[in-house]
Amino acid sequence: MEWKINKGSSGCASCNKGFCEEEEYYSALFDENNNFIRRDFCASCWNGSKEGDLFSFWKTKVPRKDKPVQRFVNTDVFLDMFNRLEGNSEIQQRNLRYVIALYLIRKKIFKLRSLNKQGGEEFIVLYYPKEDRELSVFNPNLKEEEIESITSEMSQLLNYPYLEHEVLHNAD
Ligand SMILES: [Zn+2]
Repeated sequence: MEWKINKGSSGCASCNKGFCEEEEYYSALFDENNNFIRRDFCASCWNGSKEGDLFSFWKTKVPRKDKPVQRFVNTDVFLDMFNRLEGNSEIQQRNLRYVIALYLIRKKIFKLRSLNKQGGEEFIVLYYPKEDRELSVFNPNLKEEEIESITSEMSQLLNYPYLEHEVLHNAD
């Protein structure tokens, strides 16, 4: 899977208006032929799921310049992506779902229960306390560096441009 982000603009993908400090806007992820493409929209241009290939979206806010930057978007965004990827048999989508599961375990949203083998495939069994249910996630047996690379691409895609701001901020 490829991730694409419109790095050229830091404003609305529809009207090109730049976002100001503390402005609320919508970030949307589109699944176009197995490429995730992120586009941001101002509140007046956003009208929900207007396009058929919308995969996931979330509302966000431009942080104040004097406030510390939030490292990651709300875990709800990851949960939403995790749920939407369920049942998808594309290998990259399955890899992504697994990586998101690991992230949500780290964030203590899910608990790892066990490993399960079924028809030659391995699954991790998770417990989701909030809904009191178990979930089964295909384990693609990724190498550590593959997990890291997917995680960093994913967080860049979801957090841009604020992640870059934070990196700059940490450098001084
Ligand atoms: Zn707009």
